[in-house]
Amino acid sequence: MGLLTVGTPLAWEDMLHHSRYIRKHGVLQFLHTLRRMQHLENDPFLYGDEVEYGLLKVDPIRKTVRLSLRGPEAMEALRRQEQEELQGCAWHEEYGSWMLEGTPRVPYGGYVMGLLGIEQNMRLRRGRILSVLNEDEMAPTLVAFPLLGVGFTGSSIGASPASDSALVPDSCINPHPRFATLTANIRKRRGSKVDIRVPLFKDSKTTEFETATEPMIHMDCMAFGMGCCCLQVTFQASDLDESRLLYDQLAVLAPIMLALTAATPIVKGRLAATDARWSLISQSVDDRTPAERGEAGIADARMAGAGIRKQSKSRYDSISCFIHPGSRAFNDLPCETDEDTFALLQQEGVDEALAQHVSHLFTRDPLAAFAGHVEEVDDFASTDHFESIQSTNWQTVRWKPPPATSACGTGAPHVGWRTEFRSMEVQLTDFENAAFTAFMVLVSRAILVFNLNLLVPLSKVDENMGRAHAADAVGTQNFWFRRQIWQEAEQGELCEMTMDEIMNGSKEFVGLVPLCYAYLKHIRCDNSSFKHLDQYLKLISGRASGELMTPAKWMRCFVRSHKEYKFDSVVSESIAFDMVKACNDIGLGKRPCPEILGEVEIEPITTGQYETPLFCDKLGPSERKGLLQK
Ligand code: ADP
Ligand code: MG
Ligand code: MG
Ligand code: MG
Ligand code: MG
Ligand code: MG
Repeated sequence: MGLLTVGTPLAWEDMLHHSRYIRKHGVLQFLHTLRRMQHLENDPFLYGDEVEYGLLKVDPIRKTVRLSLRGPEAMEALRRQEQEELQGCAWHEEYGSWMLEGTPRVPYGGYVMGLLGIEQNMRLRRGRILSVLNEDEMAPTLVAFPLLGVGFTGSSIGASPASDSALVPDSCINPHPRFATLTANIRKRRGSKVDIRVPLFKDSKTTEFETATEPMIHMDCMAFGMGCCCLQVTFQASDLDESRLLYDQLAVLAPIMLALTAATPIVKGRLAATDARWSLISQSVDDRTPAERGEAGIADARMAGAGIRKQSKSRYDSISCFIHPGSRAFNDLPCETDEDTFALLQQEGVDEALAQHVSHLFTRDPLAAFAGHVEEVDDFASTDHFESIQSTNWQTVRWKPPPATSACGTGAPHVGWRTEFRSMEVQLTDFENAAFTAFMVLVSRAILVFNLNLLVPLSKVDENMGRAHAADAVGTQNFWFRRQIWQEAEQGELCEMTMDEIMNGSKEFVGLVPLCYAYLKHIRCDNSSFKHLDQYLKLISGRASGELMTPAKWMRCFVRSHKEYKFDSVVSESIAFDMVKACNDIGLGKRPCPEILGEVEIEPITTGQYETPLFCDKLGPSERKGLLQK
């Protein structure tokens, strides 16, 4: 989840003294990158996904399931075995010490064949993870571990100096110092523990509704949010302008795709009234001071905005401004900006839309800094301070400038301007994860090639975001969408559409899935690739029409039809065990799931063996002897 600098993290009080410096130099580093890289053109279309996994420990006899806090160990083992093969995988740390992130080792290229490689690479990742698990472990792709915060009670809680949680010990935080530091500093900046509330699902015997009208599931630390697993896709644009255009267009799709991938109906051992994770994470890292949240509070000159500038959103939230110059008319949300940053950027010739975006990011304080790595950072050689702010603004889309290490103008390979799509929930199978990744690729290509315009006012995007969380949002909600999406159309009539209409089209609207087919036709996609992509588009289409279930709907049904369920919204340990096992088996192709997958059957995943090299070190006589002994 972002930048990992090694070193001793500064305590919050010390860190605060450096905040102004880091923010100021972060902006200078951005300006330097912009000047250096703004003229890039004709960069190839490249893209890559990120899938997050949770390691769990199961006891099939007692029917228990726990977190397995071996994420970093598993990551090291995976990294050690990974070879320099083009089609290999890369492994990254994640927030939870039970978590792991996998990406392709190199991004996929801009050919249709690349789209078929997504699923192969995801399957390879899942297989390779199998090869480093212990016998009693599994690593399903579940958004949230359903029992997090349940069962770590009493003396077994363990210390939690970083989070101060009464529910989850700090041992659940990745031991890399960055993560505990983020946790503690969010809490300290805020002035209290984070306060997460997710509405409880009302079943026929849920007792909480006898005493409260809208009972909540309460949670008290970052792990509940950042412990959620998601599916992200990053696209490289041909140039700066295109990366900004894609950012805006994809931001509109963020709530739509959140609803369509919803997979989070259970938190903290309870059925929730919502199906998606976003708001939970948003609350879990909400570092706003009381004054920023609209209550009384005192100024602290060391902080961004002196800690009293009103902030309408958490730093993990939907975007507050579009960034392409042509999108201006749709920016109708309050978008707080850092005045000094904005003034400097404008003075340096940065256009208004981009200046607004960057100075919005810079209304936040850095959350972690490392001793000997503040004033020492060279603004011309590093973007660490920029990244310190950028990587802790967790929004539905992220605009990623080229890294400092990226060469320019020398003809050497470089990383260009990228846009990341961040709202999707991770799916149970690689087939689905690949389908959603491929769909986003096709939609983004269609947007560019057909010159589409999906923009609606940002206030409508936020309304959609709220609706996307509802239980079975696909079947129950309408979403604001444009009927006319051809770029040359006027402003475009805004209307509320069902998910089915948005994806599959109607008399009035062409539909995103038909647009993907049109794109494939346009590029003359070969037959065998088409057959494969057709399966993906059928999944999206079926899910949108309600013919196929979202993972959230399936899980909710699983719990409610479990023989031990008491219709009280409680997901007991044995129900959780059965569900987690079922999810794992579905992901591994050991258990069919026509409710989610239709006719598609997942070919079983086999343990991803790494190739064994033929060359190795010379053996001494005794070792040789040992090997030859029967
Ligand atoms: P982060 O966690 O900051 O989003 P990661 O490195 O974990 O970054 O993932 C970034 C994704 O972007 C990976 O899937 C990777 O393959 C992909 N990627 C890397 N380089 C490029 C590029 N030049 N263009 C597009 N995607 C890229
Ligand atoms: Mg991640
Ligand atoms: Mg990542
Ligand atoms: Mg990351
Ligand atoms: Mg994450
Ligand atoms: Mg990412």
